[in-house]
Amino acid sequence: MNRQQLQNFLRTTDPEALELLWLTADGMRRCEVGDAIHLRGLCEISSICSRRCLYCGLRADRQIKRDRMSMSEILRAAEKAVELGYGTIVLQAGEDPALSREWVAQVIELIKDSTDLAITLSLGEQSNETLREWRDAGADRYLLRFETSNPELYRRIHPDSKKGRNRLDQLWAMHEMGYQVGSGFMIGVPGQTENDLVNDLLALPRLPLKMIGIGPYLPHPETPLGQHPELYLAPPEDQVVATPLLVWKVIALARLQVPKANIPATTALAVLDEQEGRKLALQRGANVVMPNITPAAQRSLYDIYPSKGRAEAAEQTSDAMTTFDDQLKRDIASIGRTVGTGRGDALWSWKEN
Ligand code: SF4
Repeated sequence: MNRQQLQNFLRTTDPEALELLWLTADGMRRCEVGDAIHLRGLCEISSICSRRCLYCGLRADRQIKRDRMSMSEILRAAEKAVELGYGTIVLQAGEDPALSREWVAQVIELIKDSTDLAITLSLGEQSNETLREWRDAGADRYLLRFETSNPELYRRIHPDSKKGRNRLDQLWAMHEMGYQVGSGFMIGVPGQTENDLVNDLLALPRLPLKMIGIGPYLPHPETPLGQHPELYLAPPEDQVVATPLLVWKVIALARLQVPKANIPATTALAVLDEQEGRKLALQRGANVVMPNITPAAQRSLYDIYPSKGRAEAAEQTSDAMTTFDDQLKRDIASIGRTVGTGRGDALWSWKEN
């Protein structure tokens, strides 16, 4: 899809044009990745982070209680994922210096020794040596959002970016190492314009992506962006505002941009619209859900954005997690879809057009 077409869809409120977008994205999803919705167990292994991203509740200079899961706690979470019938565990954390190369490699090996789960890592920016060791240990996939394709906006909201590596380089390096690579961006972060959003969508097919994660920016009141958005906002006529409708449009457009990708209906969208957010995303291009399997004690500390706890409240205990899982599976059946079995890998090879 070209720039003008993307822009037209992002702007339209015409019911017929929207219906056409939903039907096309849903048809493309059915044709390219099928009716199965893959469930990935999300395990938030550490809420400790050394970075200070301006929008994130886990930024290093917030004086909050944090925790890191032990190896045995992570293994129990993996067992829970198997028990619930999930094919993947996603190990996610802030950039916690104590998650050493060796420690994470050992966790990966232990999970691989005891389960058939696919392992997705979402552990931020890492060196090639570390990424290679984790891949050798058995990691299958890696998620690293580029967050915005506007380099100036990226630097503004990531004050530590000079210390880190270029995320796009890391995506390519991981692709070369054989990871299934996932990335994506935020919608509505202060300073993001419609032009930026179009560029974000245009960037997707140019990257070696098999998974695309897109979520609304949700302001956290104890972060610089949440406290003083006026210092960062684009002019009102240009600033993107993350409404549920806009997020659904971007998910649908992402499906049309990268037809074979695995695209989750994110928790952030479920926070933005508790009633319909997730369900309509699944009917407008998405094909993955990531239920949270983090133990309650650690999950309550993973305060990346407000109301996340509420969206996941139903999953707070092991029993409630099972109840949530049952409800999710009923919701999936209610829209005529099936729960995916097996690992739910992206079964296609990315190659440059
Ligand atoms: S977005 Fe990630 S790297 Fe940035 S502060 Fe939050 S957890 Fe840390």
